[in-house]
Amino acid sequence: MITLNPPPQLILSDLNDSLNGKEINIETMINRREFIKKTSMGAAAISVAGLTQSGINHSESGIKPVGGRVIDAHMHVTPGKVKKALQVMDDNFIRYGVIIASIAGSDPDQYVGDKAFYEISEAIKPYKNRLALHYTYDWTLAETDPDFFNKAPDMLEKAVKAGAIALKNLKQLGLVARDHEGKLIAIDDPRLFPIWERAEKLGIPVAFHTGDPVAFFNPWNPKNERWEELELHPEWSFSDRSKYPPLETLFAQANNVYKKFRKIQFVSVHVGGYSENLKEVSRWLDEIPNLSVDTAARIGELGKHPASEGYDFFNKYQDRIMFGTDMAYWEGCDVQGAGPCKDFTLDEDRNFYNIHWRYLQTKDKQFDHPTPIQGKWKIDGIGLQTAALKKIYWDNAYRFYKLNRVGVA
Ligand SMILES: [Zn+2]
Repeated sequence: MITLNPPPQLILSDLNDSLNGKEINIETMINRREFIKKTSMGAAAISVAGLTQSGINHSESGIKPVGGRVIDAHMHVTPGKVKKALQVMDDNFIRYGVIIASIAGSDPDQYVGDKAFYEISEAIKPYKNRLALHYTYDWTLAETDPDFFNKAPDMLEKAVKAGAIALKNLKQLGLVARDHEGKLIAIDDPRLFPIWERAEKLGIPVAFHTGDPVAFFNPWNPKNERWEELELHPEWSFSDRSKYPPLETLFAQANNVYKKFRKIQFVSVHVGGYSENLKEVSRWLDEIPNLSVDTAARIGELGKHPASEGYDFFNKYQDRIMFGTDMAYWEGCDVQGAGPCKDFTLDEDRNFYNIHWRYLQTKDKQFDHPTPIQGKWKIDGIGLQTAALKKIYWDNAYRFYKLNRVGVA
């Protein structure tokens, strides 16, 4: 069976874009969940109640997304949760949702690959004008099936014929995914080129989740900003250079692929996996015209930069940034981008989305960000202009995923 990689960004910042190989067992998963409950429920509960320091309940503050319609380009929906997802979408102006990866099941027993893809695909069939799905490889097959690299392009084509609008690569690629000989598979490994070539031929975009919070790649010591989490969960650290490549290597490998396959539109999720360093992400966007990013589960990190820098980044790349939240509807419970898995009320979900509108649209100061598990700082709104907001909320994802094809207007 597939088990999960417990680094918090799997469950926390990216929930389960990060399904992993074998060394992690159910016990660690349970420990992780306990940890999340103990450390985050308090903060999350305060945040989801919508109470800022000033006591304003911004779930009632009347902020609406400019333009009145939004594509959430980074969601996770499992088959049993389609109705709930649609309800929350209806309540928050999310006219269309892009399910960013084929992940199904209930935490901690989630699974990816064909089984997940075809189950979700079936469940969303009646809602083609509301939801679309990425195909996602189960990279553990590369280790267990010597013929995986030959089969992979046809697996993708079959999924696209069944309705996949794009391909999503989980962060395991480059970091932990191994081939039949047990060697790490680099993101720019030529054995993967036939997959990218097939994506190009099929005319679908390709999404990558590369890297993880910088802190998890840094030495594990008291100076590490996530020292407490890492002390409790050393398995979340990728700092062991005998096991894991450095973050810079992963980024360089991914960029090699983007540059080699110029006809493919790529999205590097979570602000390119490097929201800590907007200068570097800007450099990539300048160098690679076929690259976009999304905002999923990174409003907190984005808000750590001065509001003027956040504004400049969004304003300059307003044609290349897609709005996404990482809102996850797992079979057992939901995750608002990062943090505890629980059954959120419609009010709590409305508040989660409202914080996004508030960050992007207002110049409000010092309010809670949407993912308190990532840190307890406050953020300032960046107050983007209407034209930029409409692109980020709608136009960019609409064009990127060619949603005219699926009848979305
Ligand atoms: Zn995600």
